[in-house]
Amino acid sequence: MAELLSGRAAAAAIRADVAARIAQLGFAPRLALLRVGDDPDDLAYIRSIERQCETVGAETEHFTLPLGCNTEDLLRSIDTVNRRADLHGCLLLRPLPAGIDEHAVCDALLPEKDIDGMSSQSLGALFVGNRWAFAPCTAQACVELLDYYHLPLAGLHAVILGRSLVVGRPLGQLLLQRDATVTLCHSKSRELPLLCRSADLLIAAVGQVGLVDKQCLRGDQIVLDVGTTMCGEQLMGDVNAADADALVRAYSPVPGGVGAVTTAVLLRNLVTAAERAVH
Ligand code: NAP
Repeated sequence: MAELLSGRAAAAAIRADVAARIAQLGFAPRLALLRVGDDPDDLAYIRSIERQCETVGAETEHFTLPLGCNTEDLLRSIDTVNRRADLHGCLLLRPLPAGIDEHAVCDALLPEKDIDGMSSQSLGALFVGNRWAFAPCTAQACVELLDYYHLPLAGLHAVILGRSLVVGRPLGQLLLQRDATVTLCHSKSRELPLLCRSADLLIAAVGQVGLVDKQCLRGDQIVLDVGTTMCGEQLMGDVNAADADALVRAYSPVPGGVGAVTTAVLLRNLVTAAERAVH
């Protein structure tokens, strides 16, 4: 049976550290939650962030725009966040509706408040190895989870399924910084099972339930499942859990894996941004 890499345990450790740092800070860091419309998945994610902010002593403020808004409306909200010294970080719920220039909106946020690493400036900094900028939280959460379980990364062949700017590509950079050998796969990659089986560390971030099954797995692998798809009431990952459990060395489940760590990383970035703002 595979070792279970519990994101809940890793997240609890990060939150404990965040709470202690906020107590030291002497004021509550404030997170701007910027969204368009009332998508149920966005609302569920926001509720979970609010709950976690409460537990560590951080505050949230909503910036909610109607579905018919345009790029200018979002840029005005970002400008407000940039100007207000009492807002230390901003999470933009994405994807934005069609017709909105998402790159322009992301790039308008000041890098010091870009705690989810979404702007070209933050991503560029990650690419050149400037550790001042924040990496996208989900990509960072993968590394945090591996570190929590003391899994060394140097020299491993890491195969990442998915090349988005939110997960796959920034994660590739983070793993390169940790001396892994990285292969990034996408929808046009050939011989996916073969590529997957060549991995020491396999990370699935696609959003296709069961894409990774026994033909992609072998015995000594570490597998992180980042994919999340709602199937009725059930949240499902990209990895066939029964196959992973039976075959691999260690794997992170859905739910309770990388996703749990992502919000904790967001809070840690928020407190880091607040600390920097006063020092
Ligand atoms: P995305 O922007 O839709 O990207 C999906 C990626 O998967 C693309 O690069 C796509 O390739 C690739 N892909 C599609 N079919 C494939 C296949 N058969 N084999 C290999 N690669 C394939 O999605 P995302 O935002 O990166 O999110 C990916 C998944 O992670 C989703 O399920 C999302 O819900 C989840 N997620 C979880 C968290 C968390 O905290 N747990 C956070 C963010 C996202 P192309 O580039 O060629 O199209």
